[in-house]
Amino acid sequence: MTTMQVPFVDLRAQHAPLNDAIERAVRELMTRGDFIMGAAVERFETEYAAFIGARHAVGVGTGLAAIELALRAFDVGAGDEVIAPANTFIATVLAILAVGATPVFVDMDAASYGIDPSAIRAAITSRTKAIVPVHLYGQPVDLDAVLAIAARHNLIVIEDAAQAHGARYKGKRAGSMGHAAAFSFYPSKNLGAIGDGGIITTSDDRAAARLRLLRNYGQRVKYYHAIAGTNSRLDTLQAQVLSIKLPHLDGWNAARRTHADAYAARLHGHVQTPVASAGGEHIYHLYVIETANRAALEQRLRAREIQSGIHYPVPAHLQEACASLGYQPGDFPVTEAAAPRILSLPMFAELTTSQIDYVCEAIVSMPA
Ligand SMILES: *Cc1c(COP(=O)(O)O)cnc(C)c1O
Repeated sequence: MTTMQVPFVDLRAQHAPLNDAIERAVRELMTRGDFIMGAAVERFETEYAAFIGARHAVGVGTGLAAIELALRAFDVGAGDEVIAPANTFIATVLAILAVGATPVFVDMDAASYGIDPSAIRAAITSRTKAIVPVHLYGQPVDLDAVLAIAARHNLIVIEDAAQAHGARYKGKRAGSMGHAAAFSFYPSKNLGAIGDGGIITTSDDRAAARLRLLRNYGQRVKYYHAIAGTNSRLDTLQAQVLSIKLPHLDGWNAARRTHADAYAARLHGHVQTPVASAGGEHIYHLYVIETANRAALEQRLRAREIQSGIHYPVPAHLQEACASLGYQPGDFPVTEAAAPRILSLPMFAELTTSQIDYVCEAIVSMPA
């Protein structure tokens, strides 16, 4: 048996052709010294807003802060209920809790893993203020359905696009359709910094102005504080790195889509492969399969030095941190049925054909 190591993500491979440009940018930053809110931040914000197709982009410290501040910018807070999918990374939920609102979970759609629009209506009460659809794994949510419900009930829609940089829905980028959208630049995201970072996109002028205050101590002029903001800024260094990487994003996403097709061609019939939704362009932040024999498959991959992951082992509503919300096992059967079956395979733009073959061979040769 030939063996090779297949990492889950290989950032070194992504950075290798960019290292010279990044090192030059770091040296220039050290000379200029504008480490916080330097001109490179505004430049990247302009580039990213144009890329997404939003009027504004406001850089912040993390993806979590991006969701939290987007909610605050639209006055979502204490006493409000915010609808979110049960199948998401915990940050979606923690952001809602951080503004003092109550998360109200909704089950996912079995095929897309995104929030089930048909289940949203039943979760709406007189206190519902917002919906946070999550473009999970890089697959855009059926936003037309979500936006129609939101319009009918006068709700704010904050897209959690932390896994969907560049994904399209009916021709538009994820992050351009809700009232605002939150992105994370955690290093392993489809567009990643070399540390923490995040950004909010919005075409609402008032919200954008509010966000610029919120992220920077509520100050328009230094030491004059208009509102009780916080400190959550995108570092100048990270903005520089992101400006270097952004022109490559569509190419990287196209490579991920090609790899996903290669996986699907080999794995179909052996495990359940991802189903692309109509109207959406999946950018495969994660390539998530389902199998009844997950533990055995995980072990088999590990034995062959193939890394895999589980996103996520425990649905949000059953996390210990959410115990006080009062949800029970059985509340969201679709999400709960998938949780013990899902497995994320290695996925990054620089995956090689032989790595994909090696991973697929390990899976299809597994005894039933
Ligand atoms: C990564 C992620 C976040 C949070 O981003 P951080 O930068 O780690 O704070 C939020 N939501 C989802 C769906 C994510 O995947």
